[in-house]
Amino acid sequence: MAKGRIVVDEGRCKGCRLCISVCPPEILVVSSRLNERGYLPVEVTDMDRCTGCSLCAVMCPDVCITVYRQVPARSR
Ligand code: SF4
Ligand code: SF4
Repeated sequence: MAKGRIVVDEGRCKGCRLCISVCPPEILVVSSRLNERGYLPVEVTDMDRCTGCSLCAVMCPDVCITVYRQVPARSR
């Protein structure tokens, strides 16, 4: 399975938790600190377990999550 990494735009996240509910490895949690809009943004607990599945990004209504996938090098 591809390994992934996500970046959450914490300033725009409204803490609705929709992304948390769909993450298969359950590595998304609500932060304990408020963002500038007064919401508790989402953060990742263990990026090493992110598979890059993109479910969180697809689910986010405000497009706050960018997913990066590690692509295996092509064999020659
Ligand atoms: S890309 Fe998939 S595994 Fe990674 S944080 Fe999002 S839902 Fe979870
Ligand atoms: S779905 Fe989007 S707005 Fe909602 S908590 Fe996740 S990143 Fe934040």
